[in-house]
Amino acid sequence: MEINSSNIEEIVRQVLDGMKGTAAPAASGGSRNVPSTAHVAMLTALEKFEIKEYPMPTVGDDDILVKVEGCGVCGTDAHEFKRDPFGLIPVALGHEGTGEIVKMGKNVKKDSAGKPLAIGDKVVTCMIFKDNPDITMFDLNKQNVGGADVYGLLPDDDVHLNGWFSDYILVRGGSTVFNVSDLDLDSRILIEPCAVLIHAVERAKTTGILRFNSRVVVQGCGPIGLICIAILRTMGIENIVAVDGEAKRLEFARQMGATQVVNFKDHKGIEALTGAVENAFGGYLADFAFQCTGSPVAHSNIYKFIRNGGGLCELGFFINGGDATINPHFDICSKEITTVGSWVYTLRDYATTFDFLKRAKGIGLPLEKLITHKFPLEQINEALQVNLKMEGLKIAIVNK
Ligand SMILES: [Zn+2]
Repeated sequence: MEINSSNIEEIVRQVLDGMKGTAAPAASGGSRNVPSTAHVAMLTALEKFEIKEYPMPTVGDDDILVKVEGCGVCGTDAHEFKRDPFGLIPVALGHEGTGEIVKMGKNVKKDSAGKPLAIGDKVVTCMIFKDNPDITMFDLNKQNVGGADVYGLLPDDDVHLNGWFSDYILVRGGSTVFNVSDLDLDSRILIEPCAVLIHAVERAKTTGILRFNSRVVVQGCGPIGLICIAILRTMGIENIVAVDGEAKRLEFARQMGATQVVNFKDHKGIEALTGAVENAFGGYLADFAFQCTGSPVAHSNIYKFIRNGGGLCELGFFINGGDATINPHFDICSKEITTVGSWVYTLRDYATTFDFLKRAKGIGLPLEKLITHKFPLEQINEALQVNLKMEGLKIAIVNK
């Protein structure tokens, strides 16, 4: 393992903690005081979470017991809450969670990136199978690899502590776990959605079109589009135009690093809208476009914003949003557009995301503002209802 600045920070932190007398044992194993029971928000029926109390499970030699600090609410959680499409009820949901190690087995020494783990460290789990760091969700589905440790979407069992909407979670041996002690709580809650965008930008870079001086249009300013803008900005792309229909979101896009914004409601018809995007770039079309909405019309429109020889990354259709109409001659063939699709992320993108979050903070991007609502665990039903009403951006459960 190479000694880099974060290793040194970690060592300094442990030494300082030791001087304060609050040190965690440096070696693996051991525990902090843990209560005899844990609380889990169990989805027991459609639109109904119940807070259940379970005995604290035995921590095996390869397991980690984590005291949960917070967990983001994902669209997947909302789907499960509303319709249970995966047939998981009763289920402990929540996969965008983070917390502190309070107990771990004697065999646990390092995280999935090789970083040491100790009691008191802050961790996240990743939904992607750890055997192949380049494997994506697409591969998982296609190859039916199985054994993807998706805490928050596991069937209930006699441990019960399987999701992050809880006060404790038992991370079983063999799971993918990362030490993210150098990130604050809000950043840690945002890791999972940010990883989706790190992957999308990596996909975009495979076209060879994305450069420091590229003119980039980002269509859709929900959490996905906003994080996309922040990533482009942190990697040194300065010329970013955001397109959305809501003034509030466009204002947010500026804070995330967009240089110009275009409200599509101010422009009637695709020609006028294309003209507005062109104006925003000072009379040029975009070199590259990110399509971050789930709207078929938006997909059809975006080709018009791209110059001949430009590129497009489509990542808005997480679920089947229907067919979109394009003209292959004008939109792709005669313009020689290079298109990539992007879905979820790989394990390596996950680790890259931690560094992005630090860089974003370093240049003062207010990523934490993406978390517009915070609820305690007891109000998880309200939290999901707010999410279903599409109020705010990111909703999170935060424990006391
Ligand atoms: Zn998610």
